[in-house]
Amino acid sequence: MKVLVINCGSSSLKFQLIDSQTEQCLAKGLCERIGIEGSMITYAPEGGEKEKTVTPMPDHTEAIRLVLEALTNASTGVVKNLDEIGAVGHRVVHGGEKFAQSVVITDEVLQTVEECNDLAPLHNPANLIGINACRKLMPDTPMVGVFDTAFHQTMPEEAYMYGLPYTYYEKYKIRRYGFHGTSHSYVSRRAAEVLHRDYEDLKTIVCHLGNGASISAVKNGRCVDTSMGLTPLEGLIMGTRSGDIDPAIIEFLAHKEGKTIDEIMTVLNKKSGVLGLSDNLSSDFRDLEDGYHKGDANAIRALKTFCYRVAKYVGAYVAAMNGVDVICFTAGVGENAGIVRSFVCEYLGYLGIALDQEANSRRGEDIVISTPDSRTTVMVIPTNEELAIARETVRLVG
Ligand code: AMP
Repeated sequence: MKVLVINCGSSSLKFQLIDSQTEQCLAKGLCERIGIEGSMITYAPEGGEKEKTVTPMPDHTEAIRLVLEALTNASTGVVKNLDEIGAVGHRVVHGGEKFAQSVVITDEVLQTVEECNDLAPLHNPANLIGINACRKLMPDTPMVGVFDTAFHQTMPEEAYMYGLPYTYYEKYKIRRYGFHGTSHSYVSRRAAEVLHRDYEDLKTIVCHLGNGASISAVKNGRCVDTSMGLTPLEGLIMGTRSGDIDPAIIEFLAHKEGKTIDEIMTVLNKKSGVLGLSDNLSSDFRDLEDGYHKGDANAIRALKTFCYRVAKYVGAYVAAMNGVDVICFTAGVGENAGIVRSFVCEYLGYLGIALDQEANSRRGEDIVISTPDSRTTVMVIPTNEELAIARETVRLVG
């Protein structure tokens, strides 16, 4: 079956068409600036030229119409007609406590997703718009929603509750949810496969280090803790997000800088993280790595603080699981920045970790980067959220 995977943001839409038999990506692309002047679609069939077309996209329905047109185009398309697309898998950011699994999308499901909008006001409405636009253009094609939060729904109460009055949990469902669940699930399973170990019998820590970053503890195939919380702001230091801070800083800064809560939240989401720590040098780890090698104090500070926080969370999750068998690095930084993996592992001598420096310099493959005598196995597993969404879609409608 061919599965169209859609990841819809408020003004952008990423797509991939995946053949579920071969698990190959047949074509992929991106619509940008939807509803804004200068909209464009980038489309690339597997093995073909990438083409960029500037064309008006007043709304998401038009964006999806253009995606379907590109996929069926007589010269560069990869299917003859839309009937060849057996199902659509949609990434949905927040499923609250309502969705612990992926679901086949129905009117009732859409209503329940809408009830979670409060918890992800920037993401869920955009995901819903994408789903509705697809249903309009492909009314007979089954669709599946795959939630970023679902994998973490197995966390025990002591891991997901905040130390706040319980009534806020009862009234507003304020608790820790976690995100990047599709990636944490894919990577932890894949690690077990690569090692020929039973997934149900492993203690794995997954470090998903991208522009957004989170860590999870996966014990016997179930997530028992993760670093993001009610929102993706909690936890690790990220590209531009602060991660954990003393909550009193918000009031202190608002007072000192004469800013509103909204303005402070923008600082915490968009101007902090390694960007803020490096005194605005960059949020991109390629620039920080360059800066580090040149002895730039801002780059060194940002990299060291980022890695220290990752190592601290790894330690916490070793405690949460009473041990660890495998530590996996994934996502843009985790897969590519050997320097970050080295710095993090330097803190983990107590786990008997020894890195194989040659393996740590390789890219783009599932690989063990610890030495054979390392007491804990360290791996790089490139994440593939689109493939994971396609697999879930086929599992439910195939
Ligand atoms: P993601 O959010 O997973 O797409 O990760 C994006 C981030 O990965 C970028 O902002 C960079 O910081 C980082 N990244 C991508 N390629 C490299 C690379 N070759 N070396 C170091 N960092 C990289």
